[in-house]
Amino acid sequence: MATYEYDCSRCGRFETHQPMGTASDSHHCPECGRPARRVFSAPHLTTAPEQLRAALDREQRCREEPEVVAEVPRKQPVPQPHRALSRLPRP
Ligand SMILES: [Zn+2]
Repeated sequence: MATYEYDCSRCGRFETHQPMGTASDSHHCPECGRPARRVFSAPHLTTAPEQLRAALDREQRCREEPEVVAEVPRKQPVPQPHRALSRLPRP
């Protein structure tokens, strides 16, 4: 089920819960019965975990405004194994 928002010209906005993809462009107002037009609003992301919201924001930013680098990143030094590992028995 998904939440869809409609705007009645007389009573204001209300929400309906319908299976995803089945919402029509208009819906009868539950108070006055007049046709109300569908309103598109941002999904309810405030209840999503903060890490998920940050990942979604980063993904959208990356798609719309990708970071541009001016030079090739420097080669990172290869980490050396800890010297204690050399004393371990070899197979
Ligand atoms: Zn109404």
